[in-house]
Amino acid sequence: MTDTRYLVHGVFWDGPPPAPGDRDGGAPVLRLQHLTGDPATGGFTELALDAGTRLGFRLAAGGKSCLGHHKVHGPAARDHVLCPARAPAAKGSQCERCFVVDDSRLIHDFHRGGRVPAGLRAYLMQPHWLYVATFASGASKVGTASNLRKWNRLAEQGAVVARYVARAEDGRVVRVLEDMATREAGLPQQVRSAAKAAALTDPAPAVDLDALNRRLADEVRLLLAGAAVDGFESVEEQWVRPAQADAACAPAARHAYPHELGAGAHGFRIVSLTGSLALAGLDGTDLEFIVNLGLLKARTIGLGDHGSEVPAVQESLF
Ligand SMILES: [Zn+2]
Repeated sequence: MTDTRYLVHGVFWDGPPPAPGDRDGGAPVLRLQHLTGDPATGGFTELALDAGTRLGFRLAAGGKSCLGHHKVHGPAARDHVLCPARAPAAKGSQCERCFVVDDSRLIHDFHRGGRVPAGLRAYLMQPHWLYVATFASGASKVGTASNLRKWNRLAEQGAVVARYVARAEDGRVVRVLEDMATREAGLPQQVRSAAKAAALTDPAPAVDLDALNRRLADEVRLLLAGAAVDGFESVEEQWVRPAQADAACAPAARHAYPHELGAGAHGFRIVSLTGSLALAGLDGTDLEFIVNLGLLKARTIGLGDHGSEVPAVQESLF
């Protein structure tokens, strides 16, 4: 039997936002690059991560491999160029070469006067949104989303509550505002995924997280009202969290996944998904676990009917 191997590119929420009356949105998938056959053809398989999905896999190689790079041609057009050598990943999930030629590397210097290629410039000149996102522990951040990914960006971040606070005419203005919110309101621009995962083992009450997010969003709007910056308008708009994330974000007893995802065989049932974090059920126990699927990014797996071992001493988890 051929063992089909895949390179994991990660969890993607690229589907349309929730429609009115149906809060499921984003159609989250685990994107897998085929490694058998000719890797240059770059065939992909997308596993839907809907509630009830069973995911079974084993790690088929050690270490991480490069996921390639992106060439941006405009607001909606970009090419994903696979790594020709499928080299070991040296910088996150890229090799040195792909990291250097990746257009997105240049995004963060654009508002400081950095030069960018024409396609990336067209992408950055579309309207952008400034948001404040709050995660399960109350940790909060300020961030930006392009107009086309206004909703999806927050879905992939795994926000529990979020509000848009400004609409900027382009990606330069929005990053000036973002830096201001960090400098003057003390809001970071990143919350690490390990912290998001840890927070989901004991989420704070929804009403508290909402009140905190509302207060921080008001604070940023007030700050922007006094800013000597043109090219944006203040907005008050709440982000609609996808229904698939509800159970993961609700206060309940659950546990950190007890196994290392970099090795071995794993299998579980997905109960709920927020960002790249799954609330998962294991066979043979009623306990639920938080699995950080983001840790599989750039790793090589084989799919199969595997099951994760239930931790031996369940009582010690309580
Ligand atoms: Zn590469």
